[in-house]
Amino acid sequence: MATSPVIKCPTCRKRGRWFDGPFGPFCSERCKLIDLGKWLGEEHRVSTPLTNAHLDQIEDLGPAQSPPPGLN
Ligand SMILES: [Zn+2]
Repeated sequence: MATSPVIKCPTCRKRGRWFDGPFGPFCSERCKLIDLGKWLGEEHRVSTPLTNAHLDQIEDLGPAQSPPPGLN
């Protein structure tokens, strides 16, 4: 019987067994969208620049590419 570890939501740092949820490792869809929004912005710019492969992954997520209004 596997139990997910308690982790911190990468967005809001709330602790819980988020891997058990539909949005793991995020605590909620909201936090997942916020993180995706960072990806589409520039906060997640690390060592690798965006490539066509990244864009393909984003398209796989469906048409809702931008976070809904009111995330702040
Ligand atoms: Zn969260």
